[in-house]
Amino acid sequence: MICLGIESTAHTFGIGIVSFEGKILANEKSAFTTEKGGMIPSDLSKHHESVKDVVLAKALKSANLSMKDINLISFSAAPGMAPPMMVGLRFAKELAKKYNLFLVGVNHSISHLSIGDLITGAKDPVYLYVSGPNTQVVAFAGGRFRVFGETLDLGLGNMLDKFAREIGLGFPGGPKVEQLAHGKYVELPYGVKGMDVSFAGMLTKALRLFKQGVSKEDLCFSLQETSFAMLAEVAERAMAHVDKKELLLIGGVAANKRLCQMLEIMCKERNAGFFAVPLEFSGDQGAMIAWQGVLQKNDVVNPEKADIRPYERIDEVEVTWA
Ligand code: AMP
Ligand code: MG
Repeated sequence: MICLGIESTAHTFGIGIVSFEGKILANEKSAFTTEKGGMIPSDLSKHHESVKDVVLAKALKSANLSMKDINLISFSAAPGMAPPMMVGLRFAKELAKKYNLFLVGVNHSISHLSIGDLITGAKDPVYLYVSGPNTQVVAFAGGRFRVFGETLDLGLGNMLDKFAREIGLGFPGGPKVEQLAHGKYVELPYGVKGMDVSFAGMLTKALRLFKQGVSKEDLCFSLQETSFAMLAEVAERAMAHVDKKELLLIGGVAANKRLCQMLEIMCKERNAGFFAVPLEFSGDQGAMIAWQGVLQKNDVVNPEKADIRPYERIDEVEVTWA
């Protein structure tokens, strides 16, 4: 049995194909990027519309399958921007009707956690989920995924993207900040409140310092050191609080080598396992949606009933598969 998953919540249009045993057969995507400026929802929809057929064809080709081999279609139904998500929903419905298949609309954030478990073999970790819009410390406790700490304002990825955009580095900003992060440390606001974090003050201060002539290298270095230290602190607090011995880093920011290094040191010091999801599976992609569809194969609906839920949070999801 095989599930085809469609991702379209934000910049990435992705299609993954995964067997019910958890074998990843294809994971193709096309991501919207700009040289200058950020993401505008209607531009994302146009991008996704224009690439969806090509991405599907590529995915089927790399899995060496045709649509007739697919048994289930999943799509990202939450959370995200409605205009690009609607492109994924419409495409999922069209394919489901054409090939007489059921649909399952999954939560994108939970899909990041589940693919992380599948790929790394982590058993019951604290999840540090750091993407563009999200920064959350999550763990499975008492029958559902609970958010122990989160950002009170911007997600870390978006903060880095905003900083990069304002100083003319383009989008996505995270990798560009990482490339330039080799200056000296300048002090920035350290925003930790319990297990919550805040990045807005750091962004404002860094932009002010940039206008005052502090170098890009110093600011990129200092943004990374300060924000990553904050994440290490809250992740450690959550691990102690829920008494878990593993940390799993997921989301697009997991690509950052310095962040991985700092978290690894923290985990070593407390005899815990550290898992980082490899690049291909850490950012948005279709394989995670397909695998979550497999896990939720009992939650399927007829194509007419499928819809999106743009604001659904991780802790609102009824966990039917654990
Ligand atoms: P996602 O929303 O999970 O697809 O992640 C996208 C976010 O990850 C964007 O905000 C990127 O700027 C950020 N990102 C990607 N690569 C890196 C990196 N090497 N360092 C920091 N942030 C990154
Ligand atoms: Mg994501």
